[in-house]
Amino acid sequence: MKRIAYSELNAVEHWLDVVDPATADVVAQVSAGTAHDVEVAVRRAQAAFPAWSQQPNSERARWLDRLADALEARIPEFAEAETRDTGKPLWLTREIEIPRAVANLRFFAQAATQFASESHHGQAGLNYTLRQPHGVVGVISPWNMPLLLFTWKFAPALAAGNCVVAKPSEVTPLTAQMLAELARDIDFPEGVLNIVHGLGQTVGQAMVEHPGIRAISFTGSTAVGKHIAEHCARQLKKCSLELGGKNAALIFADAPKDKLYDHVVRAAFQNTGQICLCGSRLLVERRFYDEFRDTFVAKATHHLVGDPLAEGSFLGPLVSKAHHDKVMAYLELARDEGARVLAGGQRIDVPGRCANGWFVAPTILEGLGPHCRTNQEEIFGPIVTLQAFDDEEEALSLANATPYGLSASIWTEHLSRAHRVAARLDAGIVWVNTWMQRDLRTPFGGMKQSGLGREGGLEAMRFFTEPKNVCIGV
Ligand code: NAP
Ligand code: MG
Repeated sequence: MKRIAYSELNAVEHWLDVVDPATADVVAQVSAGTAHDVEVAVRRAQAAFPAWSQQPNSERARWLDRLADALEARIPEFAEAETRDTGKPLWLTREIEIPRAVANLRFFAQAATQFASESHHGQAGLNYTLRQPHGVVGVISPWNMPLLLFTWKFAPALAAGNCVVAKPSEVTPLTAQMLAELARDIDFPEGVLNIVHGLGQTVGQAMVEHPGIRAISFTGSTAVGKHIAEHCARQLKKCSLELGGKNAALIFADAPKDKLYDHVVRAAFQNTGQICLCGSRLLVERRFYDEFRDTFVAKATHHLVGDPLAEGSFLGPLVSKAHHDKVMAYLELARDEGARVLAGGQRIDVPGRCANGWFVAPTILEGLGPHCRTNQEEIFGPIVTLQAFDDEEEALSLANATPYGLSASIWTEHLSRAHRVAARLDAGIVWVNTWMQRDLRTPFGGMKQSGLGREGGLEAMRFFTEPKNVCIGV
């Protein structure tokens, strides 16, 4: 069985199983890294920093492009590994997620060459801004889109001239490790990108506490994000937090019916509901409610849950037994809170190879008020609720009635209503008549309990640099 570790040089005391959630088979083992591994990684990154940061921007861009080329040449292999590690259907990893990781590398390669700073004059002296890399930065990423979110974080850090210590989720470490091997194959400069595997409480915590790591970019749950922010505060360490969501879809009676259902089904259930941007609260204008509900239920239940390696599967299993158990507990809670189950509501047994997998049926609930736990807490599974509203005001108050503020979608042909509602939603990202369409230049992140700071485009380049004002007396 394949065993993966940060470095062959460090002895590994504990190994963690890497599990295929479609079969419950152990497919590899990953080292449970230690604070010592983090120490070694920080020292290597510090040693690599002067040469890496002093290269012309175009040289750093060239390295990111080379890594993108190498990854692009092996998309099928990476897609299969990501599918085995996460249970995502192969079409999703092959067509979307691994190609998006390639796109992230290319996008930030270009950002390295395009990033520029400001100058100010005409008031007091001649001022220019230097935007300098921090040095060594830390990147901590979750299991729900392993390679996509990992590249989204480390690529801008490297583009801006930093060296990186990174901890992918130990639940899904395979593709990050394959990328590290790919980097080695193409002679990517030594020490620039260091991947330390292991648990959040040990490796993640050691990164957050290490004084040599000058900034932390974290994507994960709100609870862990708050914990990280507290520890960063003790050293005034810069941190960027991309956290959970409980996103609403506001569906008006004049929604464009030709695309509404396909998009809303995807927003509800893609990746088995394990995307921070999933629309899990469907708010529907009352006069359209019955028609929407019946059509939505029919379309959602038409999609196949099954073996992620089989071409026809739309949904795979949940990522782990622990997560499966959490989602099942939420189903029980929803019933206790008085939910009517319109579809799903139970495990699915997939025969054959996947008989032991952690599959849950796409579940649609109605009859729950906005303040029950089912409508307040992030479940991160294939569970959506339906609520009716009478007018725009009520739609907004339902949409904004959670502690989260990551994303929302508005479905209407009424142009001025779309703009009006978008401006009043508590959300960092609002889609109108679409979902998860992404221009990588736009600010990405959430408000309220969904995060602190923004990623994407120049926002990420700014996070990974320190602005320094130089004022010349003229
Ligand atoms: P998580 O439990 O918060 O873990 C995220 C990462 O943090 C993992 O690598 C984890 O390691 C690590 N970690 C845990 N404790 C730590 C500590 N004390 N110090 C440093 N690092 C620590 O989240 P998850 O369950 O993997 O991912 C799902 C969550 O991510 C959901 O809430 C989802 O909404 C959110 N998410 C947000 C976005 C966004 O852009 N806003 C995007 C995707 C996902 P371990 O695995 O060992 O615990
Ligand atoms: Mg796994």
